[in-house]
Amino acid sequence: MMEWDLTPLYASFDSPEFQRDIKRFEELIKDLVKWTEESLKDTEDAPRKVEEFLRRYIEIEEIGEKVGHYAFLTMSVEADNEDAATYADRVQVLASLLTPAMVRFERFLASLESLDEVLKTPLAKEHEYWLRKRREHARRLLTEKEEEVIAHMKTTGGYSWSRLRGTVTAKLTGTIEIDGEEKEMSINALRNMAYDKDPEIRRKAYEAELAAYPKVEDTVASALNSIKGEYLFITRRRGYSDPLDATLEYMHLDRDTFETVMGVIRENLDVFRKYLRHKAKLLGHEGGLPWYDLFAPIGKFDRKYTIDEAKDFILSVFKQFDEELYGLARRAFEEKWIDYTPRKGKRGGAFCAKLHTIGQSRIMANFDGSFDGITTLAHELGHAFHNYNQRNESILNATSPMPIAETASIFNEVLVIEKTLPTLEKDEQVFVLEKDISGNTQVIVDIMSRFIFESEVFRRRAQGVISVAGLKEIMLNAQKEAYGDGLDHEHLHPYMWLIKPHYYSPDLHFYNFPYAFGLLFSRGLYAMYKREGKEFIPKYKELLRNTGKYDVGDIGSIIGVDLRERSFWQASMEGLAEEIERFIVLTS
Ligand SMILES: [Zn+2]
Repeated sequence: MMEWDLTPLYASFDSPEFQRDIKRFEELIKDLVKWTEESLKDTEDAPRKVEEFLRRYIEIEEIGEKVGHYAFLTMSVEADNEDAATYADRVQVLASLLTPAMVRFERFLASLESLDEVLKTPLAKEHEYWLRKRREHARRLLTEKEEEVIAHMKTTGGYSWSRLRGTVTAKLTGTIEIDGEEKEMSINALRNMAYDKDPEIRRKAYEAELAAYPKVEDTVASALNSIKGEYLFITRRRGYSDPLDATLEYMHLDRDTFETVMGVIRENLDVFRKYLRHKAKLLGHEGGLPWYDLFAPIGKFDRKYTIDEAKDFILSVFKQFDEELYGLARRAFEEKWIDYTPRKGKRGGAFCAKLHTIGQSRIMANFDGSFDGITTLAHELGHAFHNYNQRNESILNATSPMPIAETASIFNEVLVIEKTLPTLEKDEQVFVLEKDISGNTQVIVDIMSRFIFESEVFRRRAQGVISVAGLKEIMLNAQKEAYGDGLDHEHLHPYMWLIKPHYYSPDLHFYNFPYAFGLLFSRGLYAMYKREGKEFIPKYKELLRNTGKYDVGDIGSIIGVDLRERSFWQASMEGLAEEIERFIVLTS
């Protein structure tokens, strides 16, 4: 069977179990809202109240995860299942009713002189980190009235701008001439041609893409100016001196650790520039690589794998690493945790969902038989392994801040690639290595350009509206600074701000550096594994288990590493540099 089995959650939407739980979910939420209104008026008997809130809230989270995931998972493989869509929406609406209860609870925690007294109950002690985060969050809250106005205005402000940008870019088309024939194509189809084997097609697609953007540039620039302006206003009101501080707080990341990582990236940019110039030479360019050849394939990999071959392959790699990872993957294969192949009504891409209450995960993939398809499966199984290590934690502690959420998934990808390379033909080795390096270059160098761009946009937006010409200039400068002589400065991409959706989330800004952070964190762990061998593995599992209970900068203590120091990060960079050297030697 190529489809996953969701019956461990529920037999169907009509089943008495599902109907009972969705009703119970609603009741519990309404009860909690009422309870917070009545009980959190004063701080008398605070330890008992905190305990009570936790007990109720955990139960809601658990039921919510079950019913919510059942609807969401069904929807992702059956686009026209109306029950799934209805219940997914219902769960979301019900969950939003929790906001006032949570705000009241956070204000309650903030009104206590300290948490010492309430932390005396075992349940509160178990959730100490979570409670501290809630208390910190309350410091940023404005008055109830102000919060209400902001929340409402965002629906006609930031969220509307974001949707508008989504709509106009989805409809945007460009014209390309292929074999003497003019064709109109969507912007995404044009962008996908960057991977084409034919250099002529890559260049023409890039030109067609850049020629299309002026049609929507004014609209999208307005969206960007509005979203960034709105966020500047709100964060200032909340008492942040810099919007970056708000993001760092959200990511559970301190300034020192952040600066260390960004510093290490800046110091190592030359490594990637060398790769880019080498790729340029391989493709017959003088000097830096033109943008349109950034994703040009090098080498060749035509071999295809069946799903059974993919499974055997992954199992053999995992078995060499660790018995428990191997066992988990076997379970995932045998107990039908995975939905493998594309079909009508199923969405694209891949993801892993945690089913904490039943101690399992579900993976949606769109396996196409390529080697990439295998690394994707290994990646998602990494998330499942992370979930597995947190199976005995409370649902509130079984989480991970964004910058380290990709730890186990990227780790698995590296495992698969490292173990596979020696078994491949030279042409295939070149292909796999180059694809990995090209991806890493995006995550390190392009992400750096996006960070530079966004920082400058916030700085300039604070003075007033930025014109289209201004945005293009900021983007080009950011690309020159990050890519240096790795790229041909006559062929950059002045419209990257328009096409990357990450700049347009009204709630999450600087949605770029967590990617770089995640890659380097995971590769740093891999470098440790190579140094320490099997001794590293128990520490690694302990780290995965605890990602919901530490700030990013402190979690290194579990593996005996100071993440505010550069050495861990530099070792990670050296792993990436070695790959580049290997590629250069192979292709020289
Ligand atoms: Zn992932």
